[in-house]
Amino acid sequence: MSDNVGVPVYQTDVIVMGAGIAGLVAANRAAQLGLKVVVLEQGHEDQYLCNTRYTGGTFHLCMREITLDPSLLFDLIRDTTAGFVTEPLAQLLSKGGGRLIAWLQAEGIRFLRASASEYHKWVLAPPGRSRPGLDWEGRGGDVLLRTLESQLLKRAGQLQRGVKVESLLDQQGTCVGVQATAKGSACQYHAKAVVIADGGFQCNPSLVRQYVSSQPAKLKQRNGGTAFGDGLLMAQKMGAAISGTAHFYGHVLSKDALTNDQLWPYPYLDALVTAGIVVNSSAQRFTDEGRGGVSVANAVAQLDDPLSAMCVFDEAIWKGPGKNGLIAANPHLVNEGATIFVAPTLQELALKAGWDPSVLQLTVKAYNEALVAAGASTVLMPSDEVPRHNKKYKPLPIQEGPFYAVPMASGITYTMGGIVINAQAQVLKQDGQVIEGLYAVGAATGGLEGGPQIGYVGGLAKGGITGLAAAEHVASQLGLAPPIR
Ligand SMILES: Cc1cc2nc3c(=O)[nH]c(=O)nc-3n(C[C@H](O)[C@H](O)[C@H](O)COP(=O)(O)OP(=O)(O)OC[C@H]3O[C@@H](n4cnc5c(N)ncnc54)[C@H](O)[C@@H]3O)c2cc1C
Repeated sequence: MSDNVGVPVYQTDVIVMGAGIAGLVAANRAAQLGLKVVVLEQGHEDQYLCNTRYTGGTFHLCMREITLDPSLLFDLIRDTTAGFVTEPLAQLLSKGGGRLIAWLQAEGIRFLRASASEYHKWVLAPPGRSRPGLDWEGRGGDVLLRTLESQLLKRAGQLQRGVKVESLLDQQGTCVGVQATAKGSACQYHAKAVVIADGGFQCNPSLVRQYVSSQPAKLKQRNGGTAFGDGLLMAQKMGAAISGTAHFYGHVLSKDALTNDQLWPYPYLDALVTAGIVVNSSAQRFTDEGRGGVSVANAVAQLDDPLSAMCVFDEAIWKGPGKNGLIAANPHLVNEGATIFVAPTLQELALKAGWDPSVLQLTVKAYNEALVAAGASTVLMPSDEVPRHNKKYKPLPIQEGPFYAVPMASGITYTMGGIVINAQAQVLKQDGQVIEGLYAVGAATGGLEGGPQIGYVGGLAKGGITGLAAAEHVASQLGLAPPIR
């Protein structure tokens, strides 16, 4: 631990770094169990930005209802992540959903059903107003943060704004607090436990370049703009293992979202992409669109030029899947001025979009023929070509004009990978040993999402469930709560 003579030192039981859902759930649960808690939040504003402030508010696990039978959810999590999520973490998530909802309700958080879809059963109230662009003030995420802050204050906890955590205090391998900057001055907080809840590393260009995409500036930051991987870098300095950093949760957006704020976070193009095809600057397919919008957003981010991809489809897709979703691509892309190339033939479409017409025609022909040939098979394109699955999303032929091409951008919402934790949210080293005194929760963690299929489990569920786990483990260590089963 470094000497910092003259630096003010504050003493508490638990320090939480970051006041999104993960941090505020951990803080409140710890305070509820009798611990003295201080949350340090770098944002200065009353309504400081973070991903929780912008959230769509749907609590789900793998896009299914979060309170379903835990054994079913367990299988679903293992399946969605192709076994990437370890058994203890899959257990934690699958058993934690129902409990999280009940706990949040007891805190005063209100939910409603946003649509008839099973996945929309638990949505934060009030929901967004189904319109393009950002819409967060007074909506579910904003209300959740304000409610959890006021609960924390009632429990004599503190949320200190404008305090940026700079480093962890390492005393012979145990984390004993943090060094921070508040109003330009250094200070220290000594604590029995530190919980990293900083929301991931999606806004840090050098980390994104290292792990996700060679072209971070060509991704659309579809998020609150506050997650720089500070916790990841600090935890690594103490020997923490990291996992799953190559992938992110996000969606495919119109390329114009980079300059037009009405085109993010909604509408997104996922329904068009999974019904039609996605091609590169040579008019050739390069990814399995049948794995869904999150997977395609990751593949686009990995291109040498992530702004070179376009989605190609026909009138039937535009008028069918194009209208799916609460904030559908059709008509919002048109209404908000997104670039869309439209032409009566594929040849003319190619000329408008800047492709060799013969290549586009061949690409579409191969896709249409594969659709017919596949019959009942779930694999359309053989694995020696760019594969295409049709198990989850129904691919449609691209056959009758007018034909469409929409330039795309990959929208990064949060990084799926990060600091490796166990089922008590304790940070682990490469050899599996715990770093005493150090916890990580929410989007700062790694190992709960991703894997070969880039499995999306759920950002809110992950934040809330790991937040409860961390707080309960700290309390149990200090004899304030029964040991976690
Ligand atoms: C548009 C949008 C829609 C979404 N919709 C859904 C949805 O419907 N369902 C779902 O499950 N998920 C959804 N998500 C994802 C989900 O909202 C997030 O995964 C979740 O809110 C992350 O919570 P968190 O607490 O980990 O991070 P955050 O909410 O981002 O909070 C992290 C906090 O840490 C602070 N911080 C960072 N570094 C420091 C530092 N050094 N010192 C002090 N403070 C620091 C930040 O300022 C921030 O306030 C959506 C996200 C977005 C952006």
